[in-house]
Amino acid sequence: MTAQIIDGTAIAQKVRDEVKEKVAARIAAGKSQPGLATVLVGDRVDSAAYVSMKQKACAELGMTSYHHPVPADISQADLEELIKELNADPKVNGILVQLPLPSHLNEERVLQLISIEKDVDGFSPINIGRLAQKGRDPLFVPCTPYGCIYLLEQAGVKIEGANAVVLGRSNIVGMPAALLLIGKNATVTVCHSRTKDLPGVVRQADILIAAIGRAEMVRGDWIKPGAAIIDVGINGIPMLNPDGTPVISQKTGKPRQKLVGDVCYEEAKEVAGFITPVPGGVGPMTIAMLMANTFKG
Ligand code: NAP
Repeated sequence: MTAQIIDGTAIAQKVRDEVKEKVAARIAAGKSQPGLATVLVGDRVDSAAYVSMKQKACAELGMTSYHHPVPADISQADLEELIKELNADPKVNGILVQLPLPSHLNEERVLQLISIEKDVDGFSPINIGRLAQKGRDPLFVPCTPYGCIYLLEQAGVKIEGANAVVLGRSNIVGMPAALLLIGKNATVTVCHSRTKDLPGVVRQADILIAAIGRAEMVRGDWIKPGAAIIDVGINGIPMLNPDGTPVISQKTGKPRQKLVGDVCYEEAKEVAGFITPVPGGVGPMTIAMLMANTFKG
């Protein structure tokens, strides 16, 4: 069997096009332009790149972004003051604090302070609590897990009644993904670093969401034939020449890297029914869902 590839880039573009249309209609109706405030603490290159992609997406979709870069040594009190100002600013529909924060800052207190109506990342304890409770809906669903479920639905994968396995229990991916699957009536097993016989558990999965940050750890022989695989992992590994030596960048003189997921794609695609590639699977969905949440805010 060769799996059907779930094209996250194309599906994300469809979501973005829909949001763009809705933004244009809202502005044509004389309403305000939706605005996203981004808060970047310090100068981590990866965080700056993610924030820049989010700002670009806002511009492309006709939304305004208000960027707030602050120094890495900002005090907890000053960061909280900034969040309070953004909560009170009527131009700001959504507030995104790029994680991770430097270790001297209390991430939980910062996220808790974001007004629930502007919590477009969906990380506030109230939004997560609502996700966990039967019959309650969060105002915003965390973007990456939201994107995972959207990909399954767009691919036509039946979630109700499926045995779903989620690898990883982080606050931003694994746990909310598991809660969303339960909400869609899947039977869910959540695995983590202490899980015994991971391959054996994964072999039971009709749906697998892998979010552990371990390059290609899930092998083809772990996969149940026909399963749907959503690979959230983004891992850099050395790019190799056919003789096994590292590819050296002519520009920098350093070994080149390539991105792979948590699942060994080449092996898994021969067994699975559906699979997301890395890159081009879940990654583009995260920003698309952030844009959808910001429009809603
Ligand atoms: P995280 O906070 O580091 O959590 C990793 C989880 O995986 C933890 O629950 C950990 O277990 C579990 N784990 C680690 N090693 C394991 C092992 N050998 N066996 C079983 N479980 C193991 O990571 P995250 O923020 O959720 O991110 C996970 C991956 O998704 C990363 O590659 C990240 O780059 C990627 N990601 C992608 C997007 C996107 O837009 N595509 C967004 C967010 C994250 P314990 O709880 O026991 O420690």
